Amino acid sequence: MTTRRETQTRLDQLLKEIEHRNPAQPEFHQAAHEVLETLAPVVAARPEYAEPGLIERLVEPERQVMFRVPWQDDQGRVHVNRGFRVEFNSALGPYKGGLRFHPSVNLGVIKFLGFEQIFKNALTGLGIGGGKGGSDFDPHGRSDAEVMRFCQSFMTELYRHIGEHTDVPAGDIGVGGREIGYLFGQYRRITNRWEAGVLTGKGQGWGGSLIRPEATGYGNVLFAAAMLRERGEDLEGQTAVVSGSGNVAIYTIEKLAALGANAVTCSDSSGYVVDEKGIDLDLLKQIKEVERGRVDAYAERRGSSARFVPGGSVWDVPADIALPSATQNELDENDAATLIHNGVKAVSEGANMPATPEAVHLLQKAGVAFGPGKAANAGGVAVSALEMAQNHARTSWTAARVEEELTHIMNDIHTTCHETAERYDAPGDYVTGANIAGFERVADAMLAQGVI
Ligand code: NDP
Repeated sequence: MTTRRETQTRLDQLLKEIEHRNPAQPEFHQAAHEVLETLAPVVAARPEYAEPGLIERLVEPERQVMFRVPWQDDQGRVHVNRGFRVEFNSALGPYKGGLRFHPSVNLGVIKFLGFEQIFKNALTGLGIGGGKGGSDFDPHGRSDAEVMRFCQSFMTELYRHIGEHTDVPAGDIGVGGREIGYLFGQYRRITNRWEAGVLTGKGQGWGGSLIRPEATGYGNVLFAAAMLRERGEDLEGQTAVVSGSGNVAIYTIEKLAALGANAVTCSDSSGYVVDEKGIDLDLLKQIKEVERGRVDAYAERRGSSARFVPGGSVWDVPADIALPSATQNELDENDAATLIHNGVKAVSEGANMPATPEAVHLLQKAGVAFGPGKAANAGGVAVSALEMAQNHARTSWTAARVEEELTHIMNDIHTTCHETAERYDAPGDYVTGANIAGFERVADAMLAQGVI
């Protein structure tokens, strides 16, 4: 039997190869490190996982598509963006994962997100594989007509690669209900099929699921509540710092309020708002979802309880719990030190990989409950899978039913991560628990299906 040390040496060697074979993809390297660094105990304990080629296959996408996306702006000028779809692993079901439209998107970013998605989707216990896609298109400041033309051009290539049994995209940064509508319309037009299950996050009335917009934020708050419960505490009366002001942040703030906690911040790339009275969700939704404005407008219209801090770190605001909900690497070691200094009890990742490895290490060392994104923000993709189930059955469930399923799934993910961490001598370490539990499900399916 191989020892943990021998296994770790082999995984370290593999990490070096990943860096060599995938140059200039730092986010993908970071995600691979974060997972592979925790797998030694399970690979050492279960010889079948040490089979040559298993982990090597897991870190290599099954397929990567890159394509040109030409489109015309309102003045008739032609722009050329780059589109991506990385179909990472389909051992558990059709590839599933969102589309991100943001200028920072490149192949490495999409690969990091796709890799994370494999384990996240496995943790939900639903039959979905892992994938991710997007474009370096920046929707900020673009008219509806420009966004529509971009989405139509993007789908004119993407439609060849997706399908309800093949690959099912959804939203992510820069892709919400408006974009999913334009993408679905173009897919339907090109294929001449009403194939509702090809995209999730659709509008209600044409195949969307109730609670899908809310699911990621709600799910993250449920995960944070479960971590606190494990320590004999609850959310009632706790103060929370939330970053971002998009889909995940908004419904995180909503669920916190429903469970008696008070979110006092939100942010975007221009800075953050702190509101002593707690974020007024109606105002935030009006500015962000209706007007598509910036967070400084919130402070201007809210009155004396709120102020806007341009630039600056939202993690400077003292709180009991922190829920990063904007983007990757938005919470670094210094931010973690500030949160710890201010007495934070739990950090739960609504965004994907928002905390740097150094920040995670520091938080865990200080005894802060830390919920990694692949577990804590899995509620979004879980309800996407429920949307697919409703589409297959040509039915729609009540909001109460979907929320009940979501609550059950999030509690189940929490229990799985917690128990798996204990089983591998890492009590309270949700990072190890999530990585190993997700890995076991995918690896078992890959082994059963042969070398493909
Ligand atoms: P949105 O586009 O709705 O909102 C993103 C928010 O984050 C905006 O406030 C945006 O501000 C801010 N943001 C984005 N990039 C940056 C940046 N580089 N620097 C500072 N702020 C930034 O996206 P979502 O809410 O859907 O996604 C947020 C995070 O949650 C992402 O990491 C995503 O991968 C993750 N996630 C989303 C799921 C979903 O169901 N939507 C599911 C699981 C995870 P600005 O407008 O100024 O750019």
